[in-house]
Amino acid sequence: MTLFLDVNALRDLVNKTGTSQFISGLLHFIEQDFIRWPYFDKSPRTAAHSKAGVIELMPVADDVNYGFKYVNGHPKNPTLGLSTVMAFGALSDVDSGYPKLLSEMTLSTAFRTAVTSAMAAKALAKPNARNMGIVGCGSQCEFQVIAFHIINNINEVRIFDIDEEAMDKVEKNLKNYPNIKIIRASSVKDCVQGADIVTTVTADKTNATILTSDMIEEGMHINGVGGDCPGKTELHIDVLKSGKIFVEHEAQTRVEGDIQQLEAQHPVYPLWRVIAGLDIGRDFEKQITIFDSVGFALEDLSILRYVYELAVEFKIGETISLIPALDNPKDLFKLAVVTN
Ligand code: NAD
Repeated sequence: MTLFLDVNALRDLVNKTGTSQFISGLLHFIEQDFIRWPYFDKSPRTAAHSKAGVIELMPVADDVNYGFKYVNGHPKNPTLGLSTVMAFGALSDVDSGYPKLLSEMTLSTAFRTAVTSAMAAKALAKPNARNMGIVGCGSQCEFQVIAFHIINNINEVRIFDIDEEAMDKVEKNLKNYPNIKIIRASSVKDCVQGADIVTTVTADKTNATILTSDMIEEGMHINGVGGDCPGKTELHIDVLKSGKIFVEHEAQTRVEGDIQQLEAQHPVYPLWRVIAGLDIGRDFEKQITIFDSVGFALEDLSILRYVYELAVEFKIGETISLIPALDNPKDLFKLAVVTN
């Protein structure tokens, strides 16, 4: 039987684990998979683009597990009462091809994206970074803030969004985190001024310039999350040129990330090698570091493996007959045809 985790099950699983513990545990899974990067069969995701957005399939495997995610990105969806990003996915046993888990991945994507961002900042930001400016107060925002608080000890966060109500929502949702001071900014410039870490997590299907060079300060770490599709960027090209850029799967990021604006020879560095301790991230205190995040399938495999383990441990989720259970595996017909 295949284990099925819907949104309610995933929420129960996070609550049962405790948010802090869930995030710390997930960090361990993602780090371990990044350290094992060369052992995975990797490819850029396949994308079906339309005027309104994109629908993508993201597969990855090692010799034990195969995972894939279906995910969309439709920035205008909130005006229709729908989310910008929605996802589901599966985890399968490589030896038999049997799907062990079918799971919601909208919440999972928010968690894995935030934890990957925080993991990158742990490796790349100044060790004494304590405050962050975050531009974009949509679905991903609070997950980012909490992951940075738990993993990077970020205690003060300035927020900005062109939508005042989105900022109200973030303030309300994070009220129960007394150790995180949320400060409402009046502009992007006001939001990022003096920040050790800057996260951009906006959604707009355009080559936006959320961050421009005049906003960038020595030693900043930039976590660019929302530029993740051809023709959808957030960082001005001069910002990219001013820093040392780290990427997930280079072949995918060259097409989808903010670095799509740069020529193909512009140097970028693999994040996994820094996580694995093979390369240095930040070379000097005043260097600007940039994580050009687009989201890679391996992060999804990590969270699928993680929630599968937790779900089995806590007995959360239901088992479903996704695959026929047959006495005789050659007799599929018997299952389908009851009468003639
Ligand atoms: P969302 O639609 O819920 O929120 C986006 C927010 O950005 C909205 O509140 C909107 O008002 C704000 N915004 C748009 N333009 C802005 C501007 N110029 N200045 C300030 N705020 C602006 O979307 P979401 O689910 O929070 O996702 C945010 C972005 O992150 C999307 O672009 C999505 O594709 C991307 N994303 C990336 C990854 C990754 O792994 N890199 C994962 C998930 C989502």
